Amino acid sequence: MQKLRHFLCLCCACMGVQAALAADIVIDAGHGGRDPGTVRTYKGKLHLEKTFTLDMSKQLQREFKQKGYSVAMTRSVDKTVSLQERLNYARAHCKKLFVSVHVDSAPTPRAHGVNAFAAGKNHEMGKRSMHIARNVQSTFNPIRPVRKENFFVLKNANCPTLLVEMGYITNDRDLERLLNQKARGKMVSTLGQVLDKSIKQQEKKAKTKPATQTTKDKNSTKKSPLRQI
Ligand SMILES: [Zn+2]
Repeated sequence: MQKLRHFLCLCCACMGVQAALAADIVIDAGHGGRDPGTVRTYKGKLHLEKTFTLDMSKQLQREFKQKGYSVAMTRSVDKTVSLQERLNYARAHCKKLFVSVHVDSAPTPRAHGVNAFAAGKNHEMGKRSMHIARNVQSTFNPIRPVRKENFFVLKNANCPTLLVEMGYITNDRDLERLLNQKARGKMVSTLGQVLDKSIKQQEKKAKTKPATQTTKDKNSTKKSPLRQI
């Protein structure tokens, strides 16, 4: 019995490794463990970015799975994961999309709304990342353009990559929305829908025009200094 249990455990472990080898979508819940991300005390309670990002990422994972995608997470519990580990994980596992979920903060409480970031480099993955980021930005706030940033986790040439800030912890209305399970859930559902739509658009386009990447393009991400987030 003991041997059988051991064998089954080994099989499960193998399956787990196989399942984790590649995933359509890698979701990165920002921060975690020793890194709380941005924090705010509001109405006598301390709110941490890392808690919001994990909750939203888990919902996003469920929604993508319901749509038929395979999904991997850089973290699914409250633990410390370095930026390099997140990037390595994405590079090793991601097939269609790497999305890093965050909550923003600003010196002024007036700053509000969702912001989508893409590295926006002139290579194939950069273009695809920008396309997805534009779709996200125009869904949540069409007036604001996609912000091109060289965040560390965006330095991924393996699959389209974006970072999305789901509102400002420093803005009362945004924070109320993040604290309200129904409102937060609706926002994440909308994000899931627009990402699904964007992936399908790119797959349709790829069928008619295969993607190419030049050596010059591959090296084009090396110049700008990276931002830690
Ligand atoms: Zn963050």
